[in-house]
Amino acid sequence: MDWIQILKQQADWSKTNSSEYRLSPEQAIELYDNAPLHQLMAAAMARRKSMHPEGNVTYLIDRNINYTNVCTINCQFCSFYRPPNHPETYTQTFEEISARIVELEEIGGSRILMQGGVNPELPIKWYQDLISSLVINHPTIDLDCFSPIEIEGIAEVSGLTTLEVLKKFQSVGMHGLPGGGAEMLVESVRNDVSPKKGLPKNWLRVMQEAQSLGLTTSATNVFGFGEGAIERVEHMLRLRELQDQSLQQYKIGFTSFIAWPVQLEVNSFGRRNKGQNKFELGAGSSEYLRHVAVSRLFLDNIENIQSSWPTMGVAVAQMALLGGANDVGSTMMEENVVSASGTTKLSASEEELQDVIFRAGFKPMRRDSDYNLLPTSILTAEVSSMKAPTPIQ
Ligand code: SF4
Repeated sequence: MDWIQILKQQADWSKTNSSEYRLSPEQAIELYDNAPLHQLMAAAMARRKSMHPEGNVTYLIDRNINYTNVCTINCQFCSFYRPPNHPETYTQTFEEISARIVELEEIGGSRILMQGGVNPELPIKWYQDLISSLVINHPTIDLDCFSPIEIEGIAEVSGLTTLEVLKKFQSVGMHGLPGGGAEMLVESVRNDVSPKKGLPKNWLRVMQEAQSLGLTTSATNVFGFGEGAIERVEHMLRLRELQDQSLQQYKIGFTSFIAWPVQLEVNSFGRRNKGQNKFELGAGSSEYLRHVAVSRLFLDNIENIQSSWPTMGVAVAQMALLGGANDVGSTMMEENVVSASGTTKLSASEEELQDVIFRAGFKPMRRDSDYNLLPTSILTAEVSSMKAPTPIQ
């Protein structure tokens, strides 16, 4: 089937006949490689409207906290980490972390996303005490902490299984896990750029364990390592398969899918890209928009597709809202991991996010980490005086 026939067929998709119209990997690859961008985005927009007919675009008031930069994993695309004993290593104290959360509370935030390196110097008790103290001092803030590779590192240091670590953290108040560290869930790509991170099945197993406990999880995807549509769709397929399984078994799965191209400015992976090289690394705006659109059509069991302003810029993130995305992520307040490899915009105000959403023709809605809608005040006179978003309804 060529892309014309596939898009024609996809136009008949609805929530009730979803399984009949599920895209096969081969069809997704055909769309990725051959469908014109504007037609692909229009199909993703139609799908987004079927899944979210109310016309909202959501955002989260939150803060990223990168509590330690000590890491033993040595991913080639990472400029954030420092190996143990390096003079530039840091681990924040509980007081420093708490002070950051106070700043978040002052702007009405509801969640922290806390992740760092795989730091063998921190015993499991440090993490348990940290979560306990944050729960006591910041009871209204959801704590989404530690990506699967950190959970694996903590399990190794403490001699426990990853499931046991997750249970311990949940029992002291952890709300969920960030989706970080998935990058490409394809063996050949992973072995090339982060061989010490382990197989894709490890990331998927930790996420499945978290979902079995009812913890909140999201799925990420960094692309542009020289792979093609086949590998990109394989990544999405693995997420879709786990999502089917978790929704059936645990009635909970990934809240969202968030993709961005690898940043190449200041890391050893980026240096490979220089000179007479073999691969075109990273991804520009149109490739990013294509990726978002394919993900919306392919991931029919993941409700929320996020656009990425920190890596693509606000304007492209806004375009992604017209090609499948229904969420603009969060304010972040700070970010140190991706930004260490070259991004420059590290935070966005609520007003700015509302403006981006309104100008794309949607209604801005605050949400929490679980995508429950929260009361939302429209912050600028200019935005609140705009007419209801008619162009795309
Ligand atoms: S991406 Fe994460 S796991 Fe990899 S080196 Fe950086 S901090 Fe460590």
